[in-house]
Amino acid sequence: MKANKFDFDVAVLGGGSAGMAAALKASENGVSVVLIEREDRLGGILNQCIHNGFGLNYFKEELTGPEYAGRFAKKVNESNIKVLLNTTVTKIEDGYTLTLLSKNGLKKLKVKSIILSMGCRERPAGAISLCGTRPAGIISAGSAQKMINIYGKMIGKKIVIVGSGDIGLIMARRLHFEGAQVLGVYEILPHPSGLKRNISQCLTDYNIPLHLSKTVVEVVGKDRVEGVYVAPVNKDFSFDFSKKEFIPCDTVVLSIGLTPENDLAQELVQPNNITGGAIVDEYLQTSKLGIFSCGNVLHVHDIVDNVTKESERAGENCAKFVKGELNISNPLSIKNGPGVRYVNPQTYYKGDGILNVNFRVSNIFENANIVIKNNGKELRKIQKRILLPAEMETVVIAKKDLTGEVEISIE
Ligand SMILES: Cc1cc2nc3c(=O)[nH]c(=O)nc-3n(C[C@H](O)[C@H](O)[C@H](O)COP(=O)(O)OP(=O)(O)OC[C@H]3O[C@@H](n4cnc5c(N)ncnc54)[C@H](O)[C@@H]3O)c2cc1C
Repeated sequence: MKANKFDFDVAVLGGGSAGMAAALKASENGVSVVLIEREDRLGGILNQCIHNGFGLNYFKEELTGPEYAGRFAKKVNESNIKVLLNTTVTKIEDGYTLTLLSKNGLKKLKVKSIILSMGCRERPAGAISLCGTRPAGIISAGSAQKMINIYGKMIGKKIVIVGSGDIGLIMARRLHFEGAQVLGVYEILPHPSGLKRNISQCLTDYNIPLHLSKTVVEVVGKDRVEGVYVAPVNKDFSFDFSKKEFIPCDTVVLSIGLTPENDLAQELVQPNNITGGAIVDEYLQTSKLGIFSCGNVLHVHDIVDNVTKESERAGENCAKFVKGELNISNPLSIKNGPGVRYVNPQTYYKGDGILNVNFRVSNIFENANIVIKNNGKELRKIQKRILLPAEMETVVIAKKDLTGEVEISIE
């Protein structure tokens, strides 16, 4: 297993919407690209999202997940990009040497640069220390979606959903369509975790109750789930067991958050402890020169259109890196101020052009201002009727207006 000099200029790890967009942009910019996907087809999570609501921004059309993915997969297949399916990247060594595992065994690949686009995974029951027994019938929302939409298998009849993330909301509606009784969505926080449009289109429209500040405190059942105890959640996140009630059900669906699938790069690049992804500069380059990150492996996105746009920037910048055209001297920091949970990217460089900063607020804010500061002085205020932690915000700043540290906060 001896690596060649350079097999490709760019290796894109993961063939979901992020990987396909990044690979296409890099290839369009004249560098050789290999796109590596562990599944037997391109598309990633979109392949199991058969509902519509994708592409409103990017294509100005409402598409299903497979339709959105299909448009990019077609372009990839018509391009010069080398696609390796059924191939898992198991290791990144010396920065740019990849170990690939496929049915043909192990292979090493040496590249000049890497784009990380491995998506994210669901948090399991252990992540919330779910109490009680572990019978059959506890399933994550994404697995439930795969069982129903890909394998055509129903998962239960009387369902309780833990957490109000978007996948849980979408699955509440899907399970209702499939004839299950969806008894309620229980959210530990005082506000929903999913998008407003999903609350109304997936719960309200079908009379599925959403219980805020209430959660499942115990699962009951030996072979199969027989029910759950739910209890109100106090302001300090303790549970009010005096008001605990039993809900008979046969299935518990967990929709308790996503976390970037960043393990491969964990030791190579500086991690962002809030997002679970990597720290990146405005080019989406990580702390390791030539390694870029985009899509859900960088930070969990709510809509795919943003994933595509971000990943196209990563692909274009990666091609510039290969061609030695990226200016990366004297990084200046971009920070989150009061009311902002995280910003992305965390650094920028002086110059012309525009700076896109994505961020999430830490709480619900009504009639608030997004405040952009440059070097401690207010640069701009943007009025907002409502800001929600579930919805990613973006500010676009002209770089010519910036001279030092940028801070984004909420007033
Ligand atoms: C249930 C659900 C519903 C959604 N609904 C909407 C919606 O209505 N509208 C909307 O706009 N957005 C929606 N989204 C969001 C959007 O679809 C995602 O944010 C986006 O598709 C993520 O793209 P990605 O490429 O970052 O990740 P993924 O699609 O997860 O792709 C990552 C890929 O990397 C591969 N991979 C991982 N590790 C390796 C490895 N080591 N080697 C090789 N390959 C690897 C995986 O197999 C996968 O194919 C939804 C998301 C989910 C999960």
